[in-house]
Amino acid sequence: MLDSQDPNSSVASTEADITDTIAAAAQPDQWASQKKFEREKHINYFKRSLQMLPGVYTSMDTHRMTLGMFALGGLELLGVLEETVSEANRQAWIEWIYSQQRIPDPLVGEDELSDKNAGLYGFGGPFSGLPFQDQSVAEGYQGCECGARSTVYDTAHITMTYTALLMLVLLGDDLSRVAKEPILRSLRKLQQPNGCFVPCITDPESDMRFLYCAAAISHILNDWSGFNRQTALQFIRGSQTYEHGISQSMYQEAHGGPTYCAVATLGLLGGEALGDQKTMIRNEGEAEDAFEERKSQAGFVDKEGTRRWCLLRQLTGFQGRTNKVVDTCYSFWVGGTLATLGSMDLVNYECNRSFLMDTQHESFGGFGKWIDAYPDVLHSYMGIAGLSLMGEPGIRPMDPLLNISKRMQERLYTQSVFWRSS
Ligand SMILES: [Zn+2]
Repeated sequence: MLDSQDPNSSVASTEADITDTIAAAAQPDQWASQKKFEREKHINYFKRSLQMLPGVYTSMDTHRMTLGMFALGGLELLGVLEETVSEANRQAWIEWIYSQQRIPDPLVGEDELSDKNAGLYGFGGPFSGLPFQDQSVAEGYQGCECGARSTVYDTAHITMTYTALLMLVLLGDDLSRVAKEPILRSLRKLQQPNGCFVPCITDPESDMRFLYCAAAISHILNDWSGFNRQTALQFIRGSQTYEHGISQSMYQEAHGGPTYCAVATLGLLGGEALGDQKTMIRNEGEAEDAFEERKSQAGFVDKEGTRRWCLLRQLTGFQGRTNKVVDTCYSFWVGGTLATLGSMDLVNYECNRSFLMDTQHESFGGFGKWIDAYPDVLHSYMGIAGLSLMGEPGIRPMDPLLNISKRMQERLYTQSVFWRSS
């Protein structure tokens, strides 16, 4: 996948290289004047986050799956996942993740799995961390007026499905208990006529984040039958703005997050999806409709414009939008986009690294959004991911498309039931 555009090809491409990268966690000589990368403190930060989070996370109760992925993924990027997670915890967490999977009620016959129920399945956000229970089988429950099972109020969420799958890979599961067909049926239900996705059937919100999650899920399951490629490409092209960055949806402002989501989706789609309509030339003798068909396979209206917009987001670190302040997470969102476009060599590593070293919390570990901000798990993960893209010693190389280490990407391809026999 995208070997020719591998952003880490000059950093570490073999298992031996990766081991060397982790072992050599010393400060790079050329940046001796910068603050030290507090690797040990970050390891402790993620270990603490797996056990308990501060009270400010209470409102994120239903995001436990995503928070867990950032903590486990952070430990993996720091090269200590296996030695940090005990076998008992590993097994318990795998069981907990599967307990959050919404699957067709075994008491309901396949005939009843009509279109109205599609969209329910996948992994959900748990309430207070409890295992999901299908209330439709509870004593005396009659189902709701709309005809759907009670799970309509507690459905899977596309982001939780994406992060649950990544967490299962991180924990060494082979994905054999993932209900692939119901998830694919859900994806087909969640994709909108304009090509974008809603996160669950009870939420009308629809934007590039969920389109990316659907693409990543399809890639992990190695099956794109739940994803309409053609309308998705139209949506991505339609969201490229006059600035040439990409917005959450059509007619909105260009933004680093959706630009990453869109470009990573194009990378996962592969083939002509990373092509550029602006530079396409009609071949001699090519019929006009054939040329139009070829153009419709390209995901960019102006690829160079998008690359330029991303590069212009670097001040010291990266900003997410024009005229905004720099923020830790965009070192990955914009950096991952540039890595996918094969342009990390155009980033000023020294300035970006210096900014990230300043957003580390010197006592607690972890990264804040800004200098002097308290750390949070998202920015901690993204800060380390951004450093990984620049080959920081002590951090594993990562795959910018799935937002996971290359080692875990390889584990997905060699150990998961969806890939290992393909
Ligand atoms: Zn941020």
